[in-house]
Amino acid sequence: LFAKLKDPSLVIDKALIAGEWVARSDTGQTFEVVNPSNGEVIATLPDMNRAEAFRAINAAYRAQKDWARRTGKERAGILRKLYDLIVANADDLAAILTIEMGKPLAEAKGEVLYGASYVEWFGEEAKRVYGDTIPGHLQDKRIIVIKQPVGVVAAITPWNFPNAMLARKFAPAVAAGCAIVSKPAAETPLSALSFALLAQRAGVPDGIFSVILSNDSPSVGREFTENEKVRKLTFTGSTGVGKILMRQGAEQIMKLGLELGGNAPFIVFEDADLDAAVEGAMISKYRNNGQTCVCANRLYVQSGVYDAFSEKLAAKVGIMKIGDGFEPGVSAGPLITEAAVAKVTEHIADALEKGAKVAVGGKPDARGGLFFQPTVLTGVTMEMKVAREETFGPVAPLFKFDTEEDVIEMANNTEFGLASYFYSKDMAKIFRVAEALEYGMVGINTGLISTEVAPFGGIKQSGQGREGSKYGIEDYVEVKYLCLSV
Ligand code: ADP
Repeated sequence: LFAKLKDPSLVIDKALIAGEWVARSDTGQTFEVVNPSNGEVIATLPDMNRAEAFRAINAAYRAQKDWARRTGKERAGILRKLYDLIVANADDLAAILTIEMGKPLAEAKGEVLYGASYVEWFGEEAKRVYGDTIPGHLQDKRIIVIKQPVGVVAAITPWNFPNAMLARKFAPAVAAGCAIVSKPAAETPLSALSFALLAQRAGVPDGIFSVILSNDSPSVGREFTENEKVRKLTFTGSTGVGKILMRQGAEQIMKLGLELGGNAPFIVFEDADLDAAVEGAMISKYRNNGQTCVCANRLYVQSGVYDAFSEKLAAKVGIMKIGDGFEPGVSAGPLITEAAVAKVTEHIADALEKGAKVAVGGKPDARGGLFFQPTVLTGVTMEMKVAREETFGPVAPLFKFDTEEDVIEMANNTEFGLASYFYSKDMAKIFRVAEALEYGMVGINTGLISTEVAPFGGIKQSGQGREGSKYGIEDYVEVKYLCLSV
């Protein structure tokens, strides 16, 4: 498959440390990356640990001072070049992403362009990191507020969006004048490496961006949180690992950006446009095979439209094409690992045991491997695992509700607070419900909310900080106030 790329040099089996491509780890150990669609080994990479992370951090520390001194316009120019390179190479980047992660090629290309949009946006923002002047508190005082880059940033990213989750961290960090040392998920490191190569070609200086390759993430995570040269850690992944990193970072009061798990409610009121709600549910639930932190995890449907909604949804889900991401028309690729398949299987079994029914799907696909049938469950209740845990797979559990008060209580009854969705045409209800939902993001009559121009992020145990929009750059700058006596 790699042979078909326009630019095969984008497939890399080396880490990028301090501007050097490093083929061997200090220990000589390696790890393998497999295509989840067929189990084939697609790369063997150096398995690094905190020693290599330490070197990358030192290089970042040295390079960052000069980078911070450059004008915003200069940094913007390099990010613009990178944006153009990503767009020009989008087909190759998408193919690499599909090979290592499994998502359908069209979705992979969408992700690459979505990631690029952050590079474009934050390049533009690089010129607009405005400070403030504040009227002095005494006649002879003048007060000026400036914003400065936080310094060296460490980034840990997950496998579900191997390109975009890195782009969302790299772009604001580099735009603000920080240096960034990253560690992609061991399942999907190739996308990060091609991204790094393009960043190098665009003129991002040596040391400003490093990619550590490691299958020993706790070791690298230790260095990222314990090295005092690192001033901020940005992490996208599970809430459990987020807590570990927060505890470790506490020792040096590390600044943290955390994008953690979600348990998104998707509410359909009786006055909703049902077809639009079904359409939104398809996108929100089944995009990336249900493996996104903003995927609808619990679908609450008001009693009067419950049967109609479940029939329409099951009909659409029943015709989804399962297969390898390169097959034309495929909308559901493989799940990422055996563990992911096991969790989906367990959640369905638990629900069925407690009285739920399968409207469509419910089983591993006949293809075997990591393929699982997109599933709709009806008759789901709050006692089932799907009510509390993030399934992270193609399962839509449909809960029935009667009143607005009930559904808001159920929707908020979780430790998570990332994305939420609801469908209604009643303007007063729209504002009431949107304000009552305890979530960082609310999709109203839409199932797709991610864009570089809006602040992505969660509350409660879904994390802290925001990615994207004018708010996003704030996570990578420190406010300093100058008090002048004149
Ligand atoms: P997921 O369920 O998406 O795999 P994880 O939180 O386990 O979620 O993984 C997200 C990222 O965090 C990956 O890059 C993974 O390697 C990394 N990671 C996992 N455990 C740790 C840890 N203890 N310290 C640092 N990074 C970790």
